[in-house]
Amino acid sequence: MPDADKPREKCGVVGIISENGSHAPSYLYFALRALQHRGQESAGIAVQGKNIKCIKHLGLVSDVFNTKNLNKLKGKAGIGHVYYSQKLSKPENAQPHVIPTAIGEIALAHNGVIVNTEELKRELRIRGHVFLKGAEEEAMAYILADEIQRSDDILKAIKVLMRKLNGSYCLTLLHNGRVFGIRDPYGIRPLCLGEMKDGFVVASESVALDVLNAKVLRDVECGEVVELTREGVVSRQMVKKSHKAHCFFEYVYFARADSVLEGRNIYEVRQRAGARCAEEHPVDADLVIPIPDSGRSHAYGFSHKMNVPVIEGLMKNRYIGRTFIMPDQKSRDISIREKVNPIPDVIRGKRVVLVDDSIVRGTTITRIVQAVRDAGAKEIHVRIGSPPLIAPCYLGIDMENREQFLANEKTIEEIRAETTADSVGYISVDGVVDAIGIPKEDLCLGCVTDKYPLDIPCEMHRFQKTLPDYEE
Ligand code: SF4
Repeated sequence: MPDADKPREKCGVVGIISENGSHAPSYLYFALRALQHRGQESAGIAVQGKNIKCIKHLGLVSDVFNTKNLNKLKGKAGIGHVYYSQKLSKPENAQPHVIPTAIGEIALAHNGVIVNTEELKRELRIRGHVFLKGAEEEAMAYILADEIQRSDDILKAIKVLMRKLNGSYCLTLLHNGRVFGIRDPYGIRPLCLGEMKDGFVVASESVALDVLNAKVLRDVECGEVVELTREGVVSRQMVKKSHKAHCFFEYVYFARADSVLEGRNIYEVRQRAGARCAEEHPVDADLVIPIPDSGRSHAYGFSHKMNVPVIEGLMKNRYIGRTFIMPDQKSRDISIREKVNPIPDVIRGKRVVLVDDSIVRGTTITRIVQAVRDAGAKEIHVRIGSPPLIAPCYLGIDMENREQFLANEKTIEEIRAETTADSVGYISVDGVVDAIGIPKEDLCLGCVTDKYPLDIPCEMHRFQKTLPDYEE
């Protein structure tokens, strides 16, 4: 279960084509389970038979699917989706969305956020479209349907769609038995391509390929469309930008530690970030303790660099499921101890470094500091593997306003005082960029720099507007 004090990824997508029609639905099921960390609110699979058949509902992948309903899905081509919504969970928000069009159904699964959705919807309403669900994917499907009707060519339609969309998107698309993977021209969210023994797969993260024993071929390029066929993968570079903007937060928190994004092993990136944080904020200490589970890889890097032992001094209860907002301080204290409990015998009298990947609101770290102090720690130092979060994410991560951030308009000393730690140190922006190993200009660092890689309508008053620089 995700930590309520951590940002949440909005979605994970997968698309598969298999020579064997009975395998595709189960492949999609296992791939979605591997992507479960990217969305826990709903799950869905759409498979092409005579028509597209889609099963989706609120719940974890293993809640939504069982042998009986998976057996009802038959087809060699399909797409899948796991979803997290910032809004109230509603079954109609579950994806894939299947939209009927004059030339056959389109099933769409989307990871990301389109920042010009309202503008697109206005145009589409003028052209007579009615929005039944209100989802941005509905707008995408209508754009595709209109263009397919005009040109009878799905690829031309996808190109038109990509030129109209502004924002982050990794899409899997199913139409008349054809499966496409589409990545936005900045490559904000991840998408990779793999080869199975009996077909091909495109998915948000390589862990979904690993579980299928698929060979990871490569990342889908920024602005690229890949079509999975039984014979191979057909690639088209549809749109290009002058730079990329991979989300740095995928590397420090969202992606699974065993994933590989853009050739970087996530576990190693986090270890490097922990080591860099130790270089930037050294401290005399007896023990390094990871905040479970998110701070573990960073803590190992920190410990190694400082030559201070790392121990699991905080135990996490993995079985309590979703927790509720507690009405009073006493209940909140019980709630955090129920989730993460210190081991006093290893902590007592020690100078402790608590390491985590990020701090959003700061409620969890503050309560953990208190619990560790109650367990007898002599000193408590907090070290964080990402720079202070200060600005919202408009591109697919659940961080909506500045006020929610602990670091919002605060000095490090004010943050230290609020957490009650003896010291607090965050890795620098340059430090995390070095740890990731991708040039700064090819990363999105919007939530830590307050500068976004593309025009965000509600931020436009803050920055000078620039026009999109698409190239053919
Ligand atoms: S603003 Fe932050 S979380 Fe959002 S895409 Fe950019 S780096 Fe990722």
